[in-house]
Amino acid sequence: MLDVFFTVDVEIWCGGWKNLDARFPQAFQQYVYGRTPKGEYGLRYQLKELRDHGLYGVFFIESLFATRFGIEPLAEIVGLVQEYGHEVQLHMHPEWVDEAREPLFKNSQHKRQFMRQFSLEEQTILIAKGMQLLEQANGGRVHAFRAGSFGFNRDTLHALAANHIPFDSSYNASMMGLESGVLPGQVLHSPVACDGVIEYPMTIFDDGTGSYRHAQLGACTNLELEGLMKQALEQQRQAFVILSHNFELMNPQRDNADLIMIKRFRRFCEFMAEHKTAFQMRGFHQLSPATMTSDSSMLTSPLWKTMHRMAEQVLRRRY
Ligand SMILES: [Zn+2]
Repeated sequence: MLDVFFTVDVEIWCGGWKNLDARFPQAFQQYVYGRTPKGEYGLRYQLKELRDHGLYGVFFIESLFATRFGIEPLAEIVGLVQEYGHEVQLHMHPEWVDEAREPLFKNSQHKRQFMRQFSLEEQTILIAKGMQLLEQANGGRVHAFRAGSFGFNRDTLHALAANHIPFDSSYNASMMGLESGVLPGQVLHSPVACDGVIEYPMTIFDDGTGSYRHAQLGACTNLELEGLMKQALEQQRQAFVILSHNFELMNPQRDNADLIMIKRFRRFCEFMAEHKTAFQMRGFHQLSPATMTSDSSMLTSPLWKTMHRMAEQVLRRRY
């Protein structure tokens, strides 16, 4: 049995940083409900599809936007995730720090994209704020965190430990993970204890081109994901962490559905529902970390599947 974490980063963007207050209401509707001429394909659709297949997802919810727009929109997102029986955890894009109505700390007036650009003290304050906002939004106690754009460092882990958050899932060897300071000089493939928290890295693989690629619904085909999960199972790995977003089934303009992505998501749900004895979808609540093993081998996917993915990408762009 392999533990599969289907993690969805939930966030709202207003298409820039100007006229935020005027743009927010429509952005919220698009990112949360995703109404399109072809139907509704935002966060709510994903929550429902997972539930209808008897599956479970972890929703890392970006919370700092509530320092600008108030607790209600955040509570609406939390309410939806809970209504469909999935898990609420904390995601944080510190790009919102300088947009807050009230300063979160001194010298918070310039925009910084990544958590690692903040001091340990600032990161500790930010994570405490994120937890507080989720609790105010009735999200309950947070047990896991993911930094926006995977831009974390060892200070983030110390800040999580100081806030009693036991799990982090910010390490991505294909995006800044190698510079995070976790296991310097090594590539992290499996959960590891570091600085008082357990790090659950994004699952990465070699797609035959020699570069690392992370397991993301929007960036891998069903053939690739299914093959990689089977390989991880054979290797008796502890965890397989997949990334998605609340807007993953929409086109880049977020005004229409991406039909190939919808088909891919449905196929993923069907596959997981058909293989429950092999793959257990789970989250971080009540997770007790098993003995850590140090998997050092890279998962691999054959080049022909990469070519197949590239052909699918070309088709996606035509919609
Ligand atoms: Zn994000």
